[in-house]
Amino acid sequence: MMSPSLQLAITIQPPSSSPIPIRATEQQCLSLLHSTSSLPKLLQALTFLLKSGLHSNILILTRFAAAASFLGPSATAAAAALLFSPSHSPLPLHDSFLFNTALQSLSPSPLHPLPIFSLMLRLHLPPNHFTFPFLLKAIASLPSPLPAASQAHASALRFGLAGDSFVHNTLIHAYAAVRCVAALESARKVFDEMPKPCPVTFSAMIGGYILSGRSNEAVALFRQMQLTNIPPDDVTIMTVLSACVDLGALDLTHWIKFYVERMKMPKTLFLCNALVDALAKCGDVDGAVQLFDRMPEKNIVSWTSVIHGLAMHGRGVEAVRAFEAMKNADFEPDAVAFIGVLKACSHGGLVSDGRYYFDSMSRDFGVQPRIEHYGCMVDLFSRAGMVEEAMEFVGAMPIKPNPVIWRTLIAACRVHGKLELGERITKQLINQEPLYGSNYVLLSNFYALNKRWEKKWDIRKSMDQQGMRKAPGFSSFELNGEIYEFVAGGEKLSHYQEIYEMVEEISKKLMGAGFMAATSEMLLDIHEEDKEDALHWHSEKLAIAFALLRTPPGTRIRIVKNLRVCGDCHSATKFISKVYHREIVVRDRSRFHCFKDGFCSCKDFW
Ligand code: ZN
Ligand code: ZN
Repeated sequence: MMSPSLQLAITIQPPSSSPIPIRATEQQCLSLLHSTSSLPKLLQALTFLLKSGLHSNILILTRFAAAASFLGPSATAAAAALLFSPSHSPLPLHDSFLFNTALQSLSPSPLHPLPIFSLMLRLHLPPNHFTFPFLLKAIASLPSPLPAASQAHASALRFGLAGDSFVHNTLIHAYAAVRCVAALESARKVFDEMPKPCPVTFSAMIGGYILSGRSNEAVALFRQMQLTNIPPDDVTIMTVLSACVDLGALDLTHWIKFYVERMKMPKTLFLCNALVDALAKCGDVDGAVQLFDRMPEKNIVSWTSVIHGLAMHGRGVEAVRAFEAMKNADFEPDAVAFIGVLKACSHGGLVSDGRYYFDSMSRDFGVQPRIEHYGCMVDLFSRAGMVEEAMEFVGAMPIKPNPVIWRTLIAACRVHGKLELGERITKQLINQEPLYGSNYVLLSNFYALNKRWEKKWDIRKSMDQQGMRKAPGFSSFELNGEIYEFVAGGEKLSHYQEIYEMVEEISKKLMGAGFMAATSEMLLDIHEEDKEDALHWHSEKLAIAFALLRTPPGTRIRIVKNLRVCGDCHSATKFISKVYHREIVVRDRSRFHCFKDGFCSCKDFW
C-alpha cells in the first residue's frame, strides 16, 4: 500500500521545459535536501528537483539518494521508484551510470538496493562491470543480506559478469558480511571457483573468516596464500593482523613484521598502527613501543594502541607516562584514549590518578564520560577494595549502570566480604537480565558463602531444568605456526588423553609443592565457565599441560583465554611457573598475566 503522501507525489508535474538557471537552483535544491528530515520533506525536495530540471544532475541525484537513505528503507525504495519512474519521462539520464551512482550512494546504509536494481532491469538497462560491486556493497550493509546477496549472485551469473574479478571480490565481501555458516560457505565457494585470485580476493575471504569469529581459518588461508605466488598487499597484512589479535598469535605477528621489512612494504601510518596494536595485544608490548618510537608519523590511534597495550600488561605507570607524552605532543585525548588510561590506572592500582583523569576528561577536554568510562572507575575502586566508594560512585552516575558494572560490584562484594549487599545487587541484576545464566551462578555463590546450601542447590537445579549454561571457555596456544584450541571437556580430540595424563601429573607435582586448591572456591561456582567435576579442567590448564609436553624446558609459554581467568587457575599457574621453571603468559579477556617463579605480574590484582 502506498501512503497518501506518496500517491500525491506521483502526480508531480513532469520537468518544466524551461528550467530556471541551474546554479542558483542547484544550491537551493542542495539545501532542501540537506534539511530533509521526513518523507514529506523529501518529496517536497523531489518536486522541486523535477520542476527545476535537476533530475539529470548527478550531484543532486546522488544527494537525493543519500537523503532518502536516511529516512528508512521504504522511503528510499519509494523515492527511487518515483525518481526513476518512466512516468516522469522524458528523463534524459536513464542510463546505467545513473543507476550505478544511485546504488553507490546507498552504501553504507541499511536500505534495500534491490528495488533500484530491479527498476534498472525493468527499464532494459544492462548492469555493467560497476553495477554489481555497488549493488553488493549496498547489500553487505543490510541487516540480513543473505537472500539479496544470493539474488545478486544469480543475476551476475545471468549477465555473464560472475567471472569478473571485481564482481567476484565484492561477492565474497557481501557473503562474508552475513556472518553465518551458509553465507561463509557461499563466499568460500566463490573464492575457490575464481580462476585468478588476487590479494584483494584473499583479503576479502580472510576478512570474512574474521568477521564470523573464525580467525583460525583466516590464518590458515593466509598460510595457503603464502604457498601461491600471490604476494599479500598491505590490506591483506592488516586483515591478518586483526586475526592475530583475536588469537593472540605472537609468532605470526612477528613473522608479518619481519615480512613487511623484508619486502620493503611502504610503512604507512595504518600499517604501522595495525602492527603496534597487534604486537601489544599479542604480548610483545616492548616490541610495540619500539616500533611506535620509530614511526615517522603518529596519530591518536598510534598513541592509544600503546597506552592500551601498556594497560593490558599492568604497566600502569608507563601507560600514564605515555598518556602525558601524548598530550605534550599536542594530541588531544579522545574517549578511547581515556578508556586506555583509566584501565591502566585500574590494573595498576593507581586510584588517585584514575580519579584525576576521570575528572579531567570533561573539564579539560570536553569529552563526556560514556558507560565504559564509568565502568573503568567502578573497576578501579573495586579492585582497590573500595567497595563503598564504588557504590557511591554508581549511585551518583547520571546514566543507568549496565550489567557489566553491576557484575564488577558483585565481584567486589564477594571478594571483600560484603555478602548481604552483593546478594541484594545480584537479585536486582537478575530482575534486569533474567535470561543470563551467569547471574544465577553469582547468586548461588552468595548462598554458598552464607552456607545456605539448600538455596544454592535450588538455583543450580532450576538452571539445569531451564537448560542454562555458563559461557563456554576456551584457550589457545600457538606452536610452530599452528594455533591449538582447547575447551574444557573436549576429550574427543585425539591428543586429549595425553593431556589429561599430564594434567594429573601436574596436580601431583603441585600438591607435592604445597599447592592447595582454593577450597572455598571449590564450593563456589565463581568460574565463568562450567567445571562439572575434577576431570573437566578449565581450558587454560589443558593448554598449559599441552605446552609443557610439546615445548623444550625453559621455553616461555603463551596462552590466550577468551574469559577472565579464575582464582583457582590463577594460583595453580603461579605454582606451575615455579615447579616447572617456566614463564607462562596468559592473556585473558581483561589483561595479561605473566607468571614467573610463583608470582604473577598482576600482583593478584585482576
Ligand atoms: Zn579456571
Ligand atoms: Zn595474574
